[in-house]
Amino acid sequence: MQRLLCPNPLPGSMELMPFLCFLVIISGCKCLASLPYQGKIGKARRLFDEIPDRDSVAWTTMIVGYNQMGLFESAIKMFVEMVKDKVTPTQFTITNVLSSCAATGALGIGKKVHSFIVKLGLNGYIPVGNSLLNMYAKAGDLVMAQIIFDRMRLRSISSWNIMICLYMRSGNVALALAQFKQMSERDIVSWNSMIAGYNQHGLDMEALELFYSLLRDSSLKPDRFTLASILSACANVENLNLGKQIHSYIIRIQFDLSGVVQNALVSMYAKSGGLEIAQRVVEHSGISDLDVIAFTALLDGYVKLGDIAPARQIFDSLRDRDVIAWTAMIVGYLQNGLNDDAMELFRKMANEGPQPNSFTLAAILSVISNVASLNHGKQIHASAIRSGEHLSVSVGNALITMYAKAGSINGARKVFNLICWNKDTVSWTSMIIALAQHGLGEEAIKLFEKMLALNIEPDHITYVGVLSACTHVGLVEQGRSYFNLMVSVHKIEPTLSHYACMIDMLGRAGLLQEAFNFIEEMPVEPDVIAWGSLLSSCKVYKNIDLAKVAAERLLLIQPDNGGAYSALANVYSACGKWEDAAKIRKLMKDRGVKKEQGFSWVQIQNKVHVFGAEDGRHPQKDEIYKMMDKIWKDIKKMGFVPDTESVLHDLEEEVKDKLLRYHSEKLAIAFGLISTPENTTLRIMKNLRVCNDCHTAIKFVSKLVGREIIVRDVTRFHHFKDGFCSCRDYW
Ligand SMILES: [Zn+2]
Ligand SMILES: [Zn+2]
Repeated sequence: MQRLLCPNPLPGSMELMPFLCFLVIISGCKCLASLPYQGKIGKARRLFDEIPDRDSVAWTTMIVGYNQMGLFESAIKMFVEMVKDKVTPTQFTITNVLSSCAATGALGIGKKVHSFIVKLGLNGYIPVGNSLLNMYAKAGDLVMAQIIFDRMRLRSISSWNIMICLYMRSGNVALALAQFKQMSERDIVSWNSMIAGYNQHGLDMEALELFYSLLRDSSLKPDRFTLASILSACANVENLNLGKQIHSYIIRIQFDLSGVVQNALVSMYAKSGGLEIAQRVVEHSGISDLDVIAFTALLDGYVKLGDIAPARQIFDSLRDRDVIAWTAMIVGYLQNGLNDDAMELFRKMANEGPQPNSFTLAAILSVISNVASLNHGKQIHASAIRSGEHLSVSVGNALITMYAKAGSINGARKVFNLICWNKDTVSWTSMIIALAQHGLGEEAIKLFEKMLALNIEPDHITYVGVLSACTHVGLVEQGRSYFNLMVSVHKIEPTLSHYACMIDMLGRAGLLQEAFNFIEEMPVEPDVIAWGSLLSSCKVYKNIDLAKVAAERLLLIQPDNGGAYSALANVYSACGKWEDAAKIRKLMKDRGVKKEQGFSWVQIQNKVHVFGAEDGRHPQKDEIYKMMDKIWKDIKKMGFVPDTESVLHDLEEEVKDKLLRYHSEKLAIAFGLISTPENTTLRIMKNLRVCNDCHTAIKFVSKLVGREIIVRDVTRFHHFKDGFCSCRDYW
């Protein structure tokens, strides 16, 4: 068809030009517009420039061509030249230049075109009126659009549709509906504008009702946009049955299941709990056309199931894997605790994927925080600086948490001070929590006071940080007053985390009865953490009566909580009630309850080495145990006495001594000592609380070897140096 209308090669004779222009306009084949596809736009322009007397048809042809090819700026420039050349625009010129103005948001030029229209008396033409309306509508100028619409003597369905879209976009759903109802005749675009508008404003039931009325009351057929919107509405109401009905309707009308409809269908099933069907749709229609929205919906579904491998398969087959898809996949791994896979994918992205953005970096920094790998964190920090993303506040905040969790409070401080220009509540909160975890309670509180002085609103997480700062340094009075400030001034309703901080704070300070009363008076149901924290305080202060109550209540909530059994047994042991302790241990055994296994890990040159208690799996086992035996002997000479009291009573002293000697954190330290040069700081992580004996032993070790040893346990950091710990033995 095009070949017939546009002879190839393009005629060199200028006389043919008006003929060609004529063809373009009347045939609508966009003959000139098709030139750029052949790389010939320059040629068209050269031909145009050679025309001695360029009439409005020639000018218009070029403007139409530019506009339809999406070269809007060129179309507008051409129009300005045309006016300078004193050539009168036609209604085709006007509609095309207005559409270029609408696309680029060039409202200034658009208004000048508007005055031309008035001057030329073209405002009676429906296409011109609609173009003008569209231009003001796209620019969001509701007032002007309304004026134009009201003054239009003749309107088409498009005029009404443009107004519906504009009302919807500006949030005037009621006005849009009124407009829709007034229409004597509607096309499918009218219905789509209403349905999509409802869907975008979360009025999904209204969207569904309107869709049914389209099927019932009109002879119009839904198109792919109608179906995509209605499936999105189904996804939002998470009604699988409704979704299935729409799906079978689509099959019944034999609608092509590809592109936007396929994507919307996959999203709908994934979001409304029909993950398997979503998977089948993908298999049936092909993965390569899946868009990022459908992919992330699928990914979310798999993340919730805790089985993310199928999502990775889909990810690997996607045709357009943009930065959002990569980031979503990394976040998926993060949410399922698959830190290694997230790291592996991030490395792959660095090699072959798009440039990571601030969301990717924040996600990978969270992964690194979880594994507390300072080296990796520093690498990401360096690459964020290279790409300039370190200036983004979300990356800055993630860096603070990463440095703090990897044990480098100085690194966290440096980042915090660097993002001075745009710190938000999250930045302050991250830093306060970092300081609290490192036992720097006073500094955390100072920072919180500064935050308040600068009128930065704290949120409920900030208060978790502040209260735990008070807990770690034993500032009970201050903790109480901050709790009150949170409720009365900042109107934050306390959550279980805040209550847990208070119980911990009171319990650690030995105010056991008050802690118990506090739990009893809590307006929310106390959880395992609340009772567990009271229980461990009871252990420290050897209060059997309250320990029994706390353990009983805890076991009511979680009958297989091994920690509760052993904590209670430990309270009995600590008070010399060996028989009671043995009874509890037997009960635990009879009921098949297992104590949570303790693990410690240390990273040496990008490799993480994990140790359990008395672990013999490490290839350097012999060296490690030899080192530990030597340390044990040396610190005993310095005055260290093993805490054999805390071990099962019915064992020989020597066996107890050995059990303590090979606790996981001690093995990790021994390995760290033989694997790193002198003076290197050792960073050890532990999944449980560090025990009494290890805490004392590590103090001695830090003095013996003259090194700083940083231990991150499940609640906080301990910085051991010269025989002392930063927690001042209060943990
Ligand atoms: Zn220990
Ligand atoms: Zn400590």
